[in-house]
Amino acid sequence: MNFADSPTDAVFRAEVRDFLADELSSDLRAADDAVMGVGIGEDERERDWLRTLAKRGWVAPAWPKEYGGAGLSVMQQFIFNEEMARAQAPRPNFLAIGLAGPTIIVHGTEEQKREHLSGILSGETFWCQGFSEPGSGSDLASLQTRAVQDGDDFIINGQKIWTSGAHRSERMMLLARTDTEVPKHKGISYFLLDMKAAGVTVRPLTNLADTPSFNEVFFDNVRVPKTDLLGELNKGWYVATTTLDFERSGIINGVGLQTMVRELIDFVRDSGRSDGGREALRHELADRMIEAQVSIVLSYRVATMQAKGLIPNQEASITKLYGSELAQRIGRTGVKAAGMYGMLSEGSPRAPLNGRLDAWYRIAVGSTIAGGTSEIQRGVIAQRGLGLPRG
Ligand SMILES: Cc1cc2nc3c(=O)[nH]c(=O)nc-3n(C[C@H](O)[C@H](O)[C@H](O)COP(=O)(O)OP(=O)(O)OC[C@H]3O[C@@H](n4cnc5c(N)ncnc54)[C@H](O)[C@@H]3O)c2cc1C
Repeated sequence: MNFADSPTDAVFRAEVRDFLADELSSDLRAADDAVMGVGIGEDERERDWLRTLAKRGWVAPAWPKEYGGAGLSVMQQFIFNEEMARAQAPRPNFLAIGLAGPTIIVHGTEEQKREHLSGILSGETFWCQGFSEPGSGSDLASLQTRAVQDGDDFIINGQKIWTSGAHRSERMMLLARTDTEVPKHKGISYFLLDMKAAGVTVRPLTNLADTPSFNEVFFDNVRVPKTDLLGELNKGWYVATTTLDFERSGIINGVGLQTMVRELIDFVRDSGRSDGGREALRHELADRMIEAQVSIVLSYRVATMQAKGLIPNQEASITKLYGSELAQRIGRTGVKAAGMYGMLSEGSPRAPLNGRLDAWYRIAVGSTIAGGTSEIQRGVIAQRGLGLPRG
């Protein structure tokens, strides 16, 4: 494979670099986005950043032009994501831009596309993903939230959990059971829920990283109009698979991982550590750098498949598994390099990398769980990649 950009792609890369150099202020750099692929989006400055991207037409570069995307080739999208990660630019509203919008483009009616896509592109409508429930995570198809048809509406009752960003979202991608008499995958429907509907209650859950991210969401006789059903009734599982494919392909960014390793190398060099552990640390940092390069090459493979119109499956699982486990190793190497200072958080004058190292270490814990655990990814690789029988 030729790793060099084609002449057209090289021009495009320079264009993105110039844009980031001009528009991205250093206080907006968000190392955590590289770990989880999700900007926190809490901060008004991140919403402003979305508006800046919107002016350039780069909120949703992966979307087809007819729906307001930038009409970029798959390789150009890849270059755009690479440069954004290298600059540590935040990716607020990723669940809308990366998951909800593309799923609506594939499965939505023309009316649904008209209603929902423009709000995502302008940066005004935030979305969350209401899939997991207290008893249904890896075995998502066992979900119990019920939707019962009543005239032109469905009435929803049940509970979701680990719903990232529900507290600041206008809409939710919601999976609910609409038929209890059929095998579990065949009785699920996919709704585009208005979070302001009567009967929706959002309760925050504090996570390990202390970021306002997770929530529980309760539904008490929530009315959803039939027009908010995405895809066919009882075919929601297949619509959800589309969302999950987009999620796995986008969750880890190898360039973001490598940027963090580079920062760690600078940190160790500048801190002038001269104790006996320095040589071992040098080797460990070299390992992380090589592994980050492997992660980048794995994502090239996914991008190349997409450029050929193929759908990455086990390839996306390999990239997600490798990158998320590496993110945790990078966090451990960093904390080891910083010694006792590694425990200091943002706000402390002695916190390494202004507290981003501590934030990375803690946020990376969830990366091997979100979007399907490492065990689930290994199952996909074993069965679909290696052709092994189900365990
Ligand atoms: C940071 C973060 C953000 C998240 N955001 C969202 C969100 O926005 N919306 C949403 O809907 N969900 C979200 N989730 C939830 C996430 O999708 C689930 O946590 C995940 O799918 C695992 O489900 P579970 O927590 O129920 O664990 P379980 O499925 O109960 O798994 C428990 C353990 O058993 C193992 N296990 C389960 N089944 C198998 C199997 N078949 N083979 C081998 N091992 C197995 C798992 O690997 C795991 O170690 C988020 C999670 C995290 C950590």
